[in-house]
Amino acid sequence: MKLLLTEDEVLLSAAIAKGLRKRGYAVDCAYDGEEALELYSINEYDLMILDLNLPKIDGLEVLRRIREQDSVLRILILSARSSVPDKIAGLDGGSNDYLTKPFDFAELEARIRALLRQEFYMKDVNLYCGSLRIDTAARRVYWKDTPVELANKEYSILEYLMSNQGKVISPEELIEHVWDSERDPFSNSFRFHISSLRKKLSAVSGTDSLILTLRGQGYRMADEGALL
Ligand code: CA
Repeated sequence: MKLLLTEDEVLLSAAIAKGLRKRGYAVDCAYDGEEALELYSINEYDLMILDLNLPKIDGLEVLRRIREQDSVLRILILSARSSVPDKIAGLDGGSNDYLTKPFDFAELEARIRALLRQEFYMKDVNLYCGSLRIDTAARRVYWKDTPVELANKEYSILEYLMSNQGKVISPEELIEHVWDSERDPFSNSFRFHISSLRKKLSAVSGTDSLILTLRGQGYRMADEGALL
């Protein structure tokens, strides 16, 4: 999942980005409102964290301009403005959530997860594909009851595919949602991660067909029925 973090305090931004990357999110950082709109216009994000007191263009104005054209992007306001009228302005302006500073990182993360579940219409923190289950809160993967140890990127690829079950995901889309924009992976690094993910899944499940390759199109999780 790729997030756009808009925060002008450099140290705070670095700390949040570091924490989120550790949890496997791809994170792009914008340091003022103008940069946020620019990054938004060229990349595809699953969620945006938006500060309100921002240089150049105020956060509420950034929110307004995005909502003029986009009602889907999840936007979480993270602001020191903590009065009730401020919160009302943010939520009425179209943000999906509002968290005030100072905040607890674990709470920020839980709210991000909740918003992403809404985006992908997930009922709970678990995603299933046959006997494969991922717990998106703990970032753990299980085949039946056996834990599957995955590297960060492998997990992120699997989570994105399972959040989009039934859909064919192109390599470009996977890269877009799993890697930061500035750290574009070489295509062979991408292939390396997909193939090591597959090896680990087939070692534990005994099947090679959990992740299907559709020639010239991309990847898709297997149908539940095909795994029974
Ligand atoms: Ca600020």
